[in-house]
Amino acid sequence: MHWVDVYAEQLLGRGKKHFVESGTSISGEPHLGSAEDLIISDGIAKAIIEKGGECKAIWAMDDLDGLRKIPKQLPKEFEDYLGQPAFKLPCPDGCCASFADHFTRPFLENLARIDVKPEPVSVAKMYQDGKYDNVVRIAMDRAAEITAIIKEVSGSDRGDDWLPFFPICENCGRILTTQAYAWDGQRISYRCKGGIAGKNFIKGCGHEGAVGIRQGKLPWRVEWASRWSHLGVTFEPMGKDLMASGGTYETGKAICERIFNSPAPLAVPYEWIVIEGGKRLGKSAGRILTIGELIDIATPEIARYFFFRSKPTSHKDIDFGLGITKLAEEYEIAERTYFGQDMGLPEKEIEDVKRNYTASQISGIPERLSQVSYSHLISTVQVTNDWDHILEKLARTDDISGMTQAEEQRLKVKVEAVKTWLATHAPEDMKFQLQAEHPEIEISAEEKAILAKLLGKLEKAEWTAEKLHDSIHTTAVESGIKAGAMFNLMYRIFLNRTKGPRLGYLLASLDREFVVERVRHFST
Ligand SMILES: [Zn+2]
Ligand SMILES: [Zn+2]
Repeated sequence: MHWVDVYAEQLLGRGKKHFVESGTSISGEPHLGSAEDLIISDGIAKAIIEKGGECKAIWAMDDLDGLRKIPKQLPKEFEDYLGQPAFKLPCPDGCCASFADHFTRPFLENLARIDVKPEPVSVAKMYQDGKYDNVVRIAMDRAAEITAIIKEVSGSDRGDDWLPFFPICENCGRILTTQAYAWDGQRISYRCKGGIAGKNFIKGCGHEGAVGIRQGKLPWRVEWASRWSHLGVTFEPMGKDLMASGGTYETGKAICERIFNSPAPLAVPYEWIVIEGGKRLGKSAGRILTIGELIDIATPEIARYFFFRSKPTSHKDIDFGLGITKLAEEYEIAERTYFGQDMGLPEKEIEDVKRNYTASQISGIPERLSQVSYSHLISTVQVTNDWDHILEKLARTDDISGMTQAEEQRLKVKVEAVKTWLATHAPEDMKFQLQAEHPEIEISAEEKAILAKLLGKLEKAEWTAEKLHDSIHTTAVESGIKAGAMFNLMYRIFLNRTKGPRLGYLLASLDREFVVERVRHFST
């Protein structure tokens, strides 16, 4: 059974109504990895609903978290805001109501493009509106027990006088710099003495004061537990590092059960996405890959597919270059498999592959197969830019007859994705300029003879990528040359270069008369 169904059934065994939470700290533009838990949540939520259950999804914007470092895309002036909660920060470009708005709106808009639409909730607003009053009081009254649980589960000793609350300093506005030291049942006394954020020490202003329970926040582990309890969260995806023994999840679970008397949610561990063979997302210098970018170059369905094709805990490496064409090809195989074609997959994988496909759909599951491959479009869109002309070419090589409006729309989106990929992430090899005139190149006598042999085949060949590829391959075999040398020769006469996209697709995108004329010219 596919993992979305395994989780859905496990949850339905506990009850019919579900609530999934995911959360993201707001410290700049959320990268692709921040979308991962929302998409996993969405897949499981949809499976629950398909099986007759209910599921509500919220996305907690952790905008009370203090700013720990200045993201590269922010102006230097933002250094003044270090240690302050994100909800207090202004929009860096002056275009939105707040810092959080500026970065979360595009993130949510892009998620909506792949039908992931959780209800966004500002954590700062929840505290300010008093939604947390109850849990904060409980946490403060039972601070000693919480300290003991943290020590017991995680081994970390906070000290006897520790209070689980970070006030926002009334003088400097920072939250990462305060230490609470007394609770009188109404107000929390604190000192603004400075605090550590990653490798940096953020100086406090020295202020001493007391605030009410809405002017600050609980520390992360306590906050998480209180949120599960307060909202009734039944499952939550989390990076698998949080699930280590004695880690955040175990501590939160113990606090949730023993302090707030609520069951902890089912944890769905996932592996973080890495790029290009191992770099952690968001840590690669100056480069943020976002879910929007992935959708733009891959299409919405293929972007979703990336998250459903393998278990959440399996290794996830994304490569926006050639990797996108491989991802697209895998998706296309899944699509053909779903529509009953034998793609040579092992029998035991077929059901999961079909489910990978259905979990990736956005506006319902198509009723029939209507597919033009990504690789084919890489050639077509470089031969012509005009939509009608693209359709005319494809009509000769692919079955696109009688496309419905929805099918045509999906094809249009795919064409745009391929164009965007070519303009942004495609390796140079994949880009070409079709030579409208005969290029000025040297062709040897042996090569002329090979082209003459190919000519006879091209005049009769069925004009499909596969058949054209076969003709070229057979010619190479018959002539006793390597396939690579044969491809190289063809790229030279059509593109005036030695490499290019898949040759069968390239030729199929061109008119037979044009191809035949070109080969004939260089064969004599
Ligand atoms: Zn803005
Ligand atoms: Zn201060």
